[in-house]
Amino acid sequence: EIEVRGLHKAFGANEVLRGIDLEIGQGEVVCVIGPSGSGKSTLLRCVNLLEVPTKGRVFVGGTEITDPDVDIDAVRRRIGMVFQQFNLFPHLSVTENLTLPQRRVLRRDKTEAAKVAAENLRRVGLSEKAIAYPASLSGGQQQRVAIARALAMGPEVMLFDEPTSALDPELVGDVLAVMRMLANEGMTMMVVTHEMTFAREVADRVVFMDGGVIIEDGTPAQVITNPRHDRTRHFLSRLL
Ligand code: ATP
Ligand code: MG
Repeated sequence: EIEVRGLHKAFGANEVLRGIDLEIGQGEVVCVIGPSGSGKSTLLRCVNLLEVPTKGRVFVGGTEITDPDVDIDAVRRRIGMVFQQFNLFPHLSVTENLTLPQRRVLRRDKTEAAKVAAENLRRVGLSEKAIAYPASLSGGQQQRVAIARALAMGPEVMLFDEPTSALDPELVGDVLAVMRMLANEGMTMMVVTHEMTFAREVADRVVFMDGGVIIEDGTPAQVITNPRHDRTRHFLSRLL
């Protein structure tokens, strides 16, 4: 479903990704871990062309998105992304946050967009906040709205970049529970996270990155419980 081949990304002289090869099958959940600056966010951003790779190819659902002739808007429609900062529109209600992109990008009519918004608010457990404004919600609720907004677009894959890192500890669980539900429903997911319990319990595979390369790629038992590389062990020992 996602295929990354020989991916390089440089910012000027700074080579941030130095040859990434990664495959994520349909319905697979892959957690990406690694130290700050190792290139995790850049990798995720290359998968939906928020960054243009310097070299290499990226395929999503069989379409090469690094093909210069690709319809970038069509590609982005298939890929949902959730960031550390929730990026909700502050001047719009929760429902309007979910309907606006559906109407603008997918050209859905009002009734259809409202119906899909309501369905997805229910999925994240926030039906009662439909007419609230983002500022009146907790961080965890705002992040669940951001997830619902992405889901309302009907994505084939979901990318998460440290979705719980900005949250107070007591709010993390609700967001992880929504992500767990998505994983159980068979969503293809790529998740940058420091939540090792989530990675251990939910991920099919864990990828450890350092210095712009993948150091280890395996099951949670392989990578988290029995890491083969010193760098992975060192990283994990500082987290746990
Ligand atoms: P963190 O855990 O802190 O989020 P990360 O693994 O996500 O780190 P990236 O954000 O991918 O790391 O950054 C990797 C490197 O790329 C860093 O050295 C960063 O300074 C550089 N970088 C990222 N984005 C840009 C940009 N738009 N312009 C220039 N340099 C960038
Ligand atoms: Mg990052």
